[in-house]
This record gives sequence, structure tokens and C-alpha cells, in this order.
Amino acid sequence: MVPDGTVRNVGASIGVFGGTFDPPHVGHLVTAVNVRHALALDRVLLVVANQPWQKVGTRSISAAADRLAMVEAAVRGVDGLEASSAEIDRGGDSYTADTLADLARSHPGADLFLVLGADAAAGLTTWERSDEVRDLARLVVVDRPGAPAGGVPDGWRWDHVEVPRLEVSSTELRARVRDGRPLDYLLPRDVVACVRERRLYRDDP
Ligand code: ATP
Ligand code: MG
Repeated sequence: MVPDGTVRNVGASIGVFGGTFDPPHVGHLVTAVNVRHALALDRVLLVVANQPWQKVGTRSISAAADRLAMVEAAVRGVDGLEASSAEIDRGGDSYTADTLADLARSHPGADLFLVLGADAAAGLTTWERSDEVRDLARLVVVDRPGAPAGGVPDGWRWDHVEVPRLEVSSTELRARVRDGRPLDYLLPRDVVACVRERRLYRDDP
């Protein structure tokens, strides 16, 4: 402990994997587990966006509480994976720059790794205060079927991690619910139960 009560985390490594997670699926989970293993990270936080401002207005987004419940169900019992409500607790639009700054403050000395798929990496410069994101974390980029590989803008510190490529998206899973097609094995069983219990994705496109 240091005098102000914060815990020093020199040598600790934390993966930050943000998303809307509407719903979380095998593409997210296989990525999180394999990045953690490949880089020997202590923990990977699946940070549930409160308001994904780049998606608002383009489609209806499930309540943050529903999305958090699904991520909690997805990681329950999995070593090193944690659901984070940091952005929901903060409220308002969700900016990764704020999330990383808060983590850097609460975990002084820890190394932060921002995990993202190639589609998200290609859009990094459109993020709010992307220069702060660049300075606070090293990127970990995974390939994603359908997204061109290696779209990281110049000047960013980054690693590529090879993970099984799974052509799954939340968009396609929401369409599956609407059409009555099966979800099994594309989402953990407890997440499928959550979708059914909370009656998610039944009509809104
Ligand atoms: P949507 O279709 O609603 O955009 P999504 O499946 O893309 O959902 P997001 O919550 O938008 O999921 O993505 C969160 C993060 O997970 C992003 O960095 C994205 O690139 C990554 N990701 C999502 N699906 C995959 C996948 N199948 N393989 C690798 N990375 C993925
Ligand atoms: Mg997406």
C-alpha cells in the first residue's frame, strides 16, 4: 500500500477489452482467453460500454444492465476473465480514454493492454481523445473475419495475437433470435438462458 491507500501494481498486467456486448459471444470470449494466455496477462476485463456513442442512433441497444448480466454470466468460473461495470458506473457516453485513465490511477504501475478486433483497430483515430488512449495502453489486435488485417494507425504501440478466427457477430446473433434460429454453441449456455429470460432481441432490428 502507498500512503493514499491505493495498491501498487508494478509488474501487473491488465487486458482491457471493451465492447457493447449485445450479446457477448464466442468470438469475444475466445479472444479474451487466448490474448490472456499469449501475453500472460493477470486479468482481462470485459468492459461493458454504457452508451456506445458511435452506435447510438444506428440501432436499438439493450439496457446496460442486461448487457452486463450477460457478460457476467459469460465469464463466471473462467480464470482471469472479469466483467467490468466501470463505464456503466461512470454513466453517460463511454470513452476508452476515461476508462484507461481511471485504471492507470487505481492500479499505479500496472501495464495496460487494450484488446480489440481488427475492425475496431481500423477506427481508432475516430475515438474520443485517441491520443490519450495511445499513450495509456499498448494495443493487442486480433484478426476478425471480414475485417482487413493490420489497420492500426501509425504511431501506436501494438502486438498482434493469433486467435481462432470465428465469424460471429452480435449483429448476426440478434438476427438469429428474431428469426428463431439456434444460438447454441455460439454463446455460452448461461448467456443463451439470459437472452431467453430477459426476452432480448425479439423484435427490434
Ligand atoms: P456488433 O455486431 O453489434 O457490432 P460485435 O460482434 O462487433 O457486435 P462488439 O461489442 O461491437 O461486438 O465488439 C467488441 C470488440 O470485440 C471489438 O474490439 C471487436 O472487434 C471484437 N470482436 C467482436 N467479435 C469478434 C470476433 N468474432 N473475433 C474477434 N474479435 C471480435
Ligand atoms: Mg462491432
